[in-house]
Amino acid sequence: MAESPTTPATLTKSSTPSKKMTKKIQFTKKSPFSKELKRRVDAYFQEQNLSPRDQPKMYLKTVIILSWTLASYALLLFGPAIVWFKFLMAASLGAAMAGVGFSIMHDGGHRSYSTKNWINRIAFFSLDMLGASSYIWNWKHNVFHHTYPNIVDHDDDLNVGVFGRLAPEQTHYKFHQYQHIYLWFLYGLLPAKWHLFDDFEKLYTGRMGVNSFPRPKGWDLFVFFSGKILFFTWAFVIPSMFYSFWVVCAFYLFATFIEGVLLAVVFQLAHCLEEADFPMPNEYNKIDDDFLIHQLHTTADFAPNNKLLSWYVGGLNFQVEHHLFPKVSHIHYPALAKIVEETCNDYGIQYHCHATFWGSLRSHYNWLVRLGKNAEQVAPSVAEPA
Ligand SMILES: [Zn+2]
Repeated sequence: MAESPTTPATLTKSSTPSKKMTKKIQFTKKSPFSKELKRRVDAYFQEQNLSPRDQPKMYLKTVIILSWTLASYALLLFGPAIVWFKFLMAASLGAAMAGVGFSIMHDGGHRSYSTKNWINRIAFFSLDMLGASSYIWNWKHNVFHHTYPNIVDHDDDLNVGVFGRLAPEQTHYKFHQYQHIYLWFLYGLLPAKWHLFDDFEKLYTGRMGVNSFPRPKGWDLFVFFSGKILFFTWAFVIPSMFYSFWVVCAFYLFATFIEGVLLAVVFQLAHCLEEADFPMPNEYNKIDDDFLIHQLHTTADFAPNNKLLSWYVGGLNFQVEHHLFPKVSHIHYPALAKIVEETCNDYGIQYHCHATFWGSLRSHYNWLVRLGKNAEQVAPSVAEPA
């Protein structure tokens, strides 16, 4: 059976949403669309005799991307001592690390990689190996982002500090008029910020936006620090045996900059666009919409026919399908997209999709320009009182 996100995806018992989540939003409508969509998707898997998870292609892809990552790292450290070659390998390492995030850890984190939880956990641990805590990301992405996409203060992906205004409800500052120029550079600094600051700050405060989450204990805390130690060892300690510490820091920043731009662009093109909605809950903390339809209103696909891009970004150019069926392997998204589009047409629900990557990138750029101009020019969509 294909599972849809009626409850937030979680990996561990301690990360189950609890009363500690302060401002839980309710989606008050139930549409026959959701039932019919789930029925059609389940029928597809049954008719085709396919498993939603454990796809052989995923295991092959994992081997290819991990080999790419290791080869880039080895060549960066031990390859020819030519400056342009070192920068090329650092860029390759950054792109490979983003590939691990898109295609391995993301499926593991959503438990869409395998029906066996230990396989999902290993895949998810690749995030810790790349410097960011899988425990914190589980709450940030699987719980808060997937449950409340594009809802300010609840969806932590909208929060880039005072530097960026990604949603109409966020405070406007004068310097936002330049955000369509400088924000791309800040996207590149996000991984370093996660590695060195955000994870520790969230571990200490147990808060994300208006929501709180249980701070990791026991095994989760052990995984948090093990991941950090392993990452700092391969990213800083080992390279420092062969190069000066400052050279290591410079290449760390360069590789993670490439990684950050790639990760941020792919995730921003799914939600921060001109056509996406940014609804706010009413005074009773309710959104007057069906949960799955909210996902459709706030999410967009891009470049659905670009097979190479789809492979590299782990199907995240099919974010609509990912948000509707996060526990289905991304290998299936192109097939599910046809079912989703058909069902949307049948029920008169808008399905957002840019034919090309560049079309989607332009929409994100235009959105940054519009929100940067001034606060009055973009009206937020406010949920009707239920
Ligand atoms: Zn996701």
